[in-house]
Amino acid sequence: MAITQSVVDAVCVHAAGRRVHSVRVEVGALCAVLPDSMQFCFGLASEGTIADGARLDLDVRPGTARCRTCGQEFALADLILLCPCGSADVEVIAGRDLKILSMEVS
Ligand SMILES: [Zn+2]
Repeated sequence: MAITQSVVDAVCVHAAGRRVHSVRVEVGALCAVLPDSMQFCFGLASEGTIADGARLDLDVRPGTARCRTCGQEFALADLILLCPCGSADVEVIAGRDLKILSMEVS
């Protein structure tokens, strides 16, 4: 919920009073955000703002990590940080970000 609220806040600031029609947000798979609940929270958080009724497009990106033991890079589908080689000494490279890619205003 807090993460969605910050998206709405940022959108309202950038729209600078213009009406927001849609927002495209890229969200990493490791943000532990459920697209459905984010859509729902966005609707609630934007109520009464210039983004009220705006469409939220979510672009979910898979996470990536690098293993410090074998040096391999691998995709992360969830929060289980374990290299295929069995090592848990991994560094997350991508998948924790949430950013606004674009928005449509008038
Ligand atoms: Zn490894």
